[in-house]
Amino acid sequence: MRKALLCFLLAVALPALSQTVDIGVFTLFKPVELRVSPAFTPILITTNATSKILEGRQSFTVRVAQRTAPVRVTSRDGAAADFHLSIPGKIDRQFHGILTIRPRGHKLEAVVSIDREIAVASVVAAEMTPNAPLEALKAQAVAARSYYAAAGRRHDTFDFCDTTHCQFLRAWPNPASPAFRAAQETRGITLEYAGKPLAALYSASCGGQTRALADTADGYPYYSVPCDFCRRHAPGIVRGHQLGLCQNGAAGMAAAGADFQAILDHYFPGTSLAQNRLNAIFLLPVPPPLRHSKD
Ligand SMILES: [Zn+2]
Ligand SMILES: [Zn+2]
Repeated sequence: MRKALLCFLLAVALPALSQTVDIGVFTLFKPVELRVSPAFTPILITTNATSKILEGRQSFTVRVAQRTAPVRVTSRDGAAADFHLSIPGKIDRQFHGILTIRPRGHKLEAVVSIDREIAVASVVAAEMTPNAPLEALKAQAVAARSYYAAAGRRHDTFDFCDTTHCQFLRAWPNPASPAFRAAQETRGITLEYAGKPLAALYSASCGGQTRALADTADGYPYYSVPCDFCRRHAPGIVRGHQLGLCQNGAAGMAAAGADFQAILDHYFPGTSLAQNRLNAIFLLPVPPPLRHSKD
């Protein structure tokens, strides 16, 4: 029934969903030095009026003391690039997107403009264990996409950060990973309430019953629903805010044969699924190099 509805929705005019999101990365580190290097193919570094190509093991270091103008990192032709970004001695992550580094007060701010579907896959990879059943990963993917679609710009100079303040994400996952498949198989699908995308909340473990919350920014009243898996395997053990999707419960439902639509129905009563039109055809990337949609 639900599947038939989705097919029908696909055939009629669909609302468009923004194709990229601007994610502030390494926000907890307050970096004063950042290093960027190519992941596979050469990358283009542009600062003020000058630009240079980095290839192989070459890297480019940005220090807060030296910088006044932003640094932009793209592929050779100005599109999304595969690159490593690191805080020397602390952290190194690989991203795919367009990177802007700018000084902000006494630290550097790094913002990756990333394909929304890659961001969704990254959230799934960071939030769920890869061996969780696929339908649970798909439910998480729809929740993450809905959040990005509904929550608007949550920071002054970028849309979302990479911590649980917004949605937790690390590097973009391997395109062969279950997280990527979950994003791909739910591409463009969001959870809606009263005709608008819902900034769907989720947490790790509800302890047996999720929590109700009437006053939310998007008007959705979260319901208190029973969670079989937590009742049986982790009664009373709560991790997170207990609102919306219970990640452990979702994995339990999926293991018992539920699909992602049934899981979302259970944890978000009164919502529906919408298939959004995408502005460009998103191609499943194969590493390396990553094939990327162009607007
Ligand atoms: Zn945030
Ligand atoms: Zn639960």
